Amino acid sequence: MDWEEFRRWSEKAAGWGADYRASLRDRPVRAQTAPGEIAAHIADSPPESGEPMEDIFEDFEDILVPGMTHWQHPRFFAYFPANAAPVSVIAEYLVSAIAAQCMLWQTSPSATELETKVVDWLRQALGLPDSFTGVVQDSASTATLAAVLVMRERALGWRGNSQGLAANKAVRIYCTDQVHTSIDRAIWISGVGSENLVRVPSGGPNSAMDTQALAAAIERDRAAGLLPAGVIPCVGGTSIGGCDDIAAVVEVAHAQGLYVHVDAAWAGSAMICPEFRTLWQGVEQADSVVFNPHKWLGAQFDCSVQFVREPEALVRTLAIQPEYLRTHGHDGIINYSEWSVPLGRRFRALKLWFLLRYHGLEGLRTMIRNHVSWSQNLAKRLAAEPDFEIVTQPFLSLFSFDHKAPVGVDQEEHTQRLIAAINNDGRIYLTQTRVEGRLLIRFQAGQFEATAEDIDTAFDVIVEIARSLPQSYGA
Ligand code: PLP
Repeated sequence: MDWEEFRRWSEKAAGWGADYRASLRDRPVRAQTAPGEIAAHIADSPPESGEPMEDIFEDFEDILVPGMTHWQHPRFFAYFPANAAPVSVIAEYLVSAIAAQCMLWQTSPSATELETKVVDWLRQALGLPDSFTGVVQDSASTATLAAVLVMRERALGWRGNSQGLAANKAVRIYCTDQVHTSIDRAIWISGVGSENLVRVPSGGPNSAMDTQALAAAIERDRAAGLLPAGVIPCVGGTSIGGCDDIAAVVEVAHAQGLYVHVDAAWAGSAMICPEFRTLWQGVEQADSVVFNPHKWLGAQFDCSVQFVREPEALVRTLAIQPEYLRTHGHDGIINYSEWSVPLGRRFRALKLWFLLRYHGLEGLRTMIRNHVSWSQNLAKRLAAEPDFEIVTQPFLSLFSFDHKAPVGVDQEEHTQRLIAAINNDGRIYLTQTRVEGRLLIRFQAGQFEATAEDIDTAFDVIVEIARSLPQSYGA
């Protein structure tokens, strides 16, 4: 491809992107395709000769776009958001064009130095003390894996990487049943083993960890010759927004010498608003904190920030310096690949810089405050309807609800049919969770482009579809 052709198609792609984003309200949110339908239109083998860009682009529009679920749709209320603010998309176009590998300072000094700056901007924005420094990871899963590896190495006197786990006491890590499955996977991958992930009981309105039970579990494990290493509390769990009392967890954990990693992957973005910071009171004492600007803040996926109080522990756990990666002659520089599991790194700091400068913290705070108040208002409106129940109250902008099944109809079957009917309708997109065995519908507001009218539409669609379902489903 010559550079004129590159320019023409880049302009076409940018124009397409603008048209696409502007047209989202007219598209069904969730893909309305059956499994295999898209693959049936893709050639089984690669072409031997190159094809014209016109044909490739046309197939992209005709075959692939109809099979996309539109994560930037203003009425996407499923999972958690994966917001890509338009300004962060522009930054990503530039990152794609430069296509730098940012593993070491010298492979991309601007990327490294900007990362240091914007991570510190975010630290200030979240109200964290300057005892924290941080790094941009690809995902919260990676950040949590890095933190679990640090917990393991600290507890094993930094011998786990060399000796493996077999020669040592079993490492124990504690959390509740409200944490995301990325914690389970970090436990598997680190070799700690799921039997050594201790589920501490939780309860109360926020499903918070029982810290007396935590203290007792740690003491019991120590007495049994096991090696308590760390605790992973969450702020805004994925299912219903479970939230631990970070100050209480840290107090117990630190009294026992354990490392604390806080998973605030979704809710962390809300901490740019000072009024929400009570939800993670005590976080300043944690050892590691992860939050995903790629969820609620608007930095295009992927972009996860991990703050740590002792980067040396991360580096001691993860750094490896063969000669071909050494950077001779530069003192005091940071090679961020030594702070993370992958060696290769994208230039993720650029979209944060564009985003924070374009919107300013006030712009982002307004968005988050709107989402929280719109969502809470929707919960109130649904609660006022006689056939709806708000089962878990809003935590920030996330709550769960159910619709009463007609007499004689199984409640779970009815709820499942309601979710399917809503998502097949396409005007909004919701997903489900299970709480104490009960299937529930989750609602979260968090889309960058959402308006109060979109949340009103959600109310209308939910009520209309719930009341139009058949009164019996037959055999
Ligand atoms: N932690 C929480 C609370 C989450 O909700 C999620 C994803 O939704 C994750 C961690 C994993 O995030 P990532 O996809 O960045 O690995």
